[in-house]
Amino acid sequence: MIIVLRQDITQKQKDEVKSLLKENGLIIKEIKGKEDTVLGAVGVNRMDPRQIELMDGVASVVPISKPYKLASRELKKEDTIVRVGDVRIGGNRVVMMAGPCAVESEKQIMEIAETVRRAGAVILRGGAFKPRTSPYSFQGLGEEGLKYLRKAGDEFGMPVTTEVVSPKDVEMMAGYIDMFQIGARNMQNFELLKEVGKTGMPVLLKRGLAATIEEWLMAAEYLMANGTDQVVLCERGIRTYEKATRNTLDCSAIPVVQKLTHLPVIGDPSHATGMRDLVSPMGLALVAAGASGLIVEVHNHPDKALSDGPQSLLPEQFEKLVRDVEALCPVVGKSLESVPRIIPSSMREEEGRASSNDGLTVAFQGERGAFSELAVRNVFPEEVSVLPCKSFHDAFEAVNKGKAKYAVLPIENTLGGTIVDNIDLLGRYPNITIVGEVQVRIIHDLIVNPGVRMEDIKKVYSHPQGLAQCRDFLDRELPDAERIPFFDTAGAVSYIKQSGDRSAAAIAGAPAAAYHGMEVLRQSIETNPRNYTRFFVLTRSENAAVFRSANVPDRVAVSFTVPDRPGALFDALEVFKAHSLNMKKLESRPIAGKPWEYSFFAELELSSMEKFDEALTQLKEQTSQLSVLGSYKSAH
Ligand code: PEP
Ligand code: MN
Repeated sequence: MIIVLRQDITQKQKDEVKSLLKENGLIIKEIKGKEDTVLGAVGVNRMDPRQIELMDGVASVVPISKPYKLASRELKKEDTIVRVGDVRIGGNRVVMMAGPCAVESEKQIMEIAETVRRAGAVILRGGAFKPRTSPYSFQGLGEEGLKYLRKAGDEFGMPVTTEVVSPKDVEMMAGYIDMFQIGARNMQNFELLKEVGKTGMPVLLKRGLAATIEEWLMAAEYLMANGTDQVVLCERGIRTYEKATRNTLDCSAIPVVQKLTHLPVIGDPSHATGMRDLVSPMGLALVAAGASGLIVEVHNHPDKALSDGPQSLLPEQFEKLVRDVEALCPVVGKSLESVPRIIPSSMREEEGRASSNDGLTVAFQGERGAFSELAVRNVFPEEVSVLPCKSFHDAFEAVNKGKAKYAVLPIENTLGGTIVDNIDLLGRYPNITIVGEVQVRIIHDLIVNPGVRMEDIKKVYSHPQGLAQCRDFLDRELPDAERIPFFDTAGAVSYIKQSGDRSAAAIAGAPAAAYHGMEVLRQSIETNPRNYTRFFVLTRSENAAVFRSANVPDRVAVSFTVPDRPGALFDALEVFKAHSLNMKKLESRPIAGKPWEYSFFAELELSSMEKFDEALTQLKEQTSQLSVLGSYKSAH
């Protein structure tokens, strides 16, 4: 059952509730949500819920209708973020895990670890105990394999996961690995689940070969009831009558499971299909379906692999898959997990904090729930504080004065074009530099006070861009409603909430509705679904190295002016060509105080730092002013 606590409950009252539940043999989980705190109490319940409901400090008692309790969304509304080393799984990130089916030798796992890490994997997989269909097939290297796996993970900066097949190995394995994997064949090995659950460590729980979603969630419940709340579910295909593929990938299990549980769910397209050529398309399908990540088998020499060679991707295929997943991420409102997400551990020690990101503040322009806040959340972990700023200038000032370490500001929208104010501000703050880039898909929803219906709406508030971008919907569905331009989209939601106006609607993103507890009446009403905004991550120059060491730059932004003579711009651009620096964007801006004179803003692909440095030396000769505005890892 769920015990909803009153907001004014005292510690003493809470302790009394807890001890009564404990005396009755129930397992208790305290969950602090955005709005209220609840106690989950599970176990063989002989208590009358009314007895608890009458206690001081208790608001209500609600039964959990599902047989799985701790895993249920009824108990915990917010997504669980599972931490494996420095990697986080869940929320708005997509995590790539990769490696061979089995660890075959030290050399093999080292080579593959390097390959997958370079391509973008953040967790290394590799079986040491293999549950093979035939007793005559390779059974894995056992503990020796774990040692190699650990070594490879440490060498290339990835936490490691591997399958556990026997309860007696759990303790030994815990010393080597970061996340247990429970294989499909063992999903209902309850003694194994209990032993693994007791460690409290993260667990990747594969769906059984013929398990229903409910049985799968009951297996997660076993793990949780025994002591871990760090469970990641993994859809890996189920047995059906179809023989064309090794298993049948149940893509719809992803959104179904997400409704039922707060635990993250990922996909395994390798075991689901059993065929190399199907792994990438089905991997993309899983991400499109909402998976929080993929676990993929990769082998340097699949034809020589000791297990699952036919379904192992070649290194270059995995590299392409990661790129494709990265491109897909903004469509589903997520970003590819890179590690460390921002702050490497060196800085954590320097700041002497338990979590590196506590106390870190990131500025953005707009109100809470704005698309810009979504961009912040796609780069920085949950625990950073955000500083909403009225204007772009205020956000620059916040970074300049040290009120925020970073700012995330929009630079360009695919429909609206360049946000020139931010280019100009970069010129005015030479000590602030670009260190990162992030892309967000702009999805507009029609948002109202709870219970308001379409026929009640007489006015629609939004940023002029929001109104313009949803014109087809408004013309069709709300032709008579007045369209009222507002300062920003999220601000429009907060305004109609405060006014309580039941004849008003706002157009904004879903996060704004969630933040203000408002209702989404219609989803994705924008005329053009291919609407993206890219943002720069900015910081003071002295902080830049830390961010860039975690996100190695492949782009550079410069601004320059050229002398007033024929061919001057041509000569400057020729330097880029001579050094094979591919130009991705060029924009001219008027120079303040110098009528009819212009500076140029350019973004270039950074193939090698040496080439760029050489080019810069030559560019100085062709320009009257030149500055490097920053370098960053591109997001598109
Ligand atoms: C594996 O991951 O190598 C494996 C054996 O997977 P599953 O348990 O899903 O078959
Ligand atoms: Mn395998």
